[in-house]
Amino acid sequence: MLEPETVAEVYPPSEREPYSASRIERYVECGFKFYAEKVLGIEDPDDVEVVPTPLETGSYVHDVLERFFADLQDETEDGVDLTDFNRDDLATHLREIAVDELRDADFEYDGLFYERWKAELFAGLGDGVSAPYEAGSKPHDAPEQGLFATFLDNELSRNGAGRPHLFEAPFGEGLPDSDAGPFTVERPDGSTVSIRGYIDRVDVSRDGEQPTLTLYDYKTGRAPYMTKTTGGTKFQLPIYLLAAAEVVDGDPFAEGSLSATYYQVRPPNDLKVPRGVESKFDSEVELRRFLNDVVPEWLGQIDEAIANGRFHTTLLSARGANCRYCDYSRACDVRHHRKREFVDKVHEDDTAYVPLRVRDDEDIEAVMSDD
Ligand code: SF4
Repeated sequence: MLEPETVAEVYPPSEREPYSASRIERYVECGFKFYAEKVLGIEDPDDVEVVPTPLETGSYVHDVLERFFADLQDETEDGVDLTDFNRDDLATHLREIAVDELRDADFEYDGLFYERWKAELFAGLGDGVSAPYEAGSKPHDAPEQGLFATFLDNELSRNGAGRPHLFEAPFGEGLPDSDAGPFTVERPDGSTVSIRGYIDRVDVSRDGEQPTLTLYDYKTGRAPYMTKTTGGTKFQLPIYLLAAAEVVDGDPFAEGSLSATYYQVRPPNDLKVPRGVESKFDSEVELRRFLNDVVPEWLGQIDEAIANGRFHTTLLSARGANCRYCDYSRACDVRHHRKREFVDKVHEDDTAYVPLRVRDDEDIEAVMSDD
């Protein structure tokens, strides 16, 4: 634990804010890991990799999927309707973008494992056996359909419902390629937390009586369970829903029905779109109350906990905090077998943030109803 004066010196508000959703989630995952990485700036040791790291793969796949729709949108007016196009043309379009983005990527690898990595993404996008992916011959055990082809077929099967509208939409100030103004959420006590980031994708559907706004966050790993969002350890979806009010023009946000979910795009071809966070609430009113009251309060508590130097080891399970793959494990003294006592002790501290999911005496319904 650090004194607030020390935090103000070594990690002042100007360095902390605006927060990103992933930085907030990093703190909730483990305060000590956050402290080592963000406050002390101790870098992960560089490992020697033979294929792009999960971070590199994630960033590359995001870029390809963003450009795939953004380039098509230039040709249409009101969101992208893939049914206007022929599948072969779309496959060629996607392959060309994927090859182009790979040339521009900030990583460079070669060798058999890298060929395999490419095959898992590109297979099924080419014209038969001649050019299934950028280079080389197809490894014998590569899938017939890689990630991009599976994504394309999944999008085509949606048959025009909910047209993709915005891609990598920025919000909050200080982002490199955006001049968006500040974005803040306000706690019930009037204090604010400043946040910034990008919303991977916003789809708008105007088919029903009221418009539906659906936000997607692409995940090249496993999509987290939705109960982590209502349990106060995952914040991307609610933050993006709150920010959607800023990035979407017109009434779809104010009058529309809101939905936000993960879009799992996990190589080689594991695609999943779970039911959105709205499915955890009985009504639109309850969802909006969660967004407008509960989430800002939790974000405010996290900001306060950081400002007050609460950098304790994780309150989650070893699995929940990824302790097994943690680069700081040798410097920390976490005792998972005494977790319950530890959570109770931290819970007595008014300035600490204790996620709802680790408190066994409360659930989201209790929290939503205590006003
Ligand atoms: S090993 Fe677990 S508790 Fe320790 S710093 Fe890493 S994530 Fe935190």
